[in-house]
Order: sequence, then structure tokens, then C-alpha cells
Amino acid sequence: MALAAPIAVSPAPSVAIPVREIVPWALFAAAIAFVLVYFIGFEQGAFSFVSSSYVHEFVHDARHLAGLPCH
Ligand SMILES: [Zn+2]
Repeated sequence: MALAAPIAVSPAPSVAIPVREIVPWALFAAAIAFVLVYFIGFEQGAFSFVSSSYVHEFVHDARHLAGLPCH
């Protein structure tokens, strides 16, 4: 079995991304993160949008994994 010859790998060219193209995606990611943190950490009791405990029980393990107080 013959060994393959080493292949010269050139680094990928760097591409500059303008900040104004990043800001909307950063805001979108921040909004999604805020919603996730809210539902995992604070959707219970006086702060709950959903009156039942379905959301609380659905994210219960994630809440304990994040170290947030629960019960
Ligand atoms: Zn708990």
C-alpha cells in the first residue's frame, strides 16, 4: 500500500463582515436567549405566562442543570 503524498493546505482567506450585518443577528440571538432563559429560569409562580405548570415541568431538568432555584 502506497502512502499518499502530503497535500499543501493554504489558509482560507479572511472575510470581513460589516458590523451592520451582524447587529440584527446578534439582537435576534439575544431575544431567543432571553426567551429561553425566561422559560427555563423564571416561568413559575407570579412570573408565569402559562397558568398551569406544564412549562415548568417541561424545563424542570434544565432549570436544575442551570443551578436555578426551583423547589
Ligand atoms: Zn425542581
